[in-house]
Amino acid sequence: MTQHHEDPRVIETDAEAYNATLVRREDLTHDLAYFWVRFDGEATPFEPGQYMTTGVVTDGKMLQRPYSVASAPLVANSEGYELFVRHVPVIRFTTALWRLPVGHRMRMIGPKGKFMLEPDDDRTHLYVSTGTGIAPFISMIRETMAQGHARRTVLLNGCSFSDELGYRRELEAWEQDPAYRLRYVPTISRPADPRNAGWAGHVGRAEQVITDVCREHGLRPDRTVVYICGNPDMILNVERALMDRGFPEFHVKKELYWPKGKAQAGVPAG
Ligand SMILES: Cc1cc2nc3c(=O)[nH]c(=O)nc-3n(C[C@H](O)[C@H](O)[C@H](O)COP(=O)(O)OP(=O)(O)OC[C@H]3O[C@@H](n4cnc5c(N)ncnc54)[C@H](O)[C@@H]3O)c2cc1C
Repeated sequence: MTQHHEDPRVIETDAEAYNATLVRREDLTHDLAYFWVRFDGEATPFEPGQYMTTGVVTDGKMLQRPYSVASAPLVANSEGYELFVRHVPVIRFTTALWRLPVGHRMRMIGPKGKFMLEPDDDRTHLYVSTGTGIAPFISMIRETMAQGHARRTVLLNGCSFSDELGYRRELEAWEQDPAYRLRYVPTISRPADPRNAGWAGHVGRAEQVITDVCREHGLRPDRTVVYICGNPDMILNVERALMDRGFPEFHVKKELYWPKGKAQAGVPAG
């Protein structure tokens, strides 16, 4: 049994439903972390952009949530499924997840979801996300690169603070490698905060900079497919801004991490 002073619930260390193990964890900030969960048996095949549902038995009940997979399918057996998660300070799933030591048993099912790449799509791919919503795009980039078919990509990721920009080092490195055909555009919504001291990149929310990004990168509505993931308000605002620029609705795919109107007070948007 695992105990924690802020979350008094009892997490079962062993349960019949468990079929996977938390094999690795890396913290990015105090409330953002990467987790790797590996199946006991063969990994289940998935498409980049899909999500897995993972959980633990807490106070006698299975508590589980969906998470986009950030890793490429080809490492699912060796490394497990990589998840990029924000700790939400309400006693539900993430407070339990944050308490799990590496090696803890878990339940994982999936994959699910239709937020996937089209086969042989030679349009420019515009990926727009807030916070952890970047996860499916990392899987998409990794997989298309592994197959030797990188797609011309512009990735816009908005966060409150520059230290919350997940995968920043990898993305900056990939951007330098012409094989990736990637333009990485991070944007910070609270530039005046001391935590963002020294930030020289874009400022403003994703929906505020999307029009400039389209202009700067010459993104034409008829030659661009758009994927938007994360905070539902951002998704709707970005979609509206793109429609205003003439992007047809069927060129825009969306993955909402929670229902619109359900923002959690005190939690950065995404
Ligand atoms: C298809 C899908 C994929 C998802 N993938 C991810 C992912 O890759 N990474 C991830 O961290 N979350 C992801 N989520 C959200 C995740 O399933 C949980 O809702 C989240 O981890 C919070 O769980 P909780 O039980 O602590 O709180 P919940 O009761 O599930 O959520 C409480 C509130 O927290 C806020 N919230 C939820 N998720 C986030 C978030 N990511 N960032 C900021 N605020 C949030 C919302 O306001 C929500 O109403 C995904 C959701 C869906 C539907």
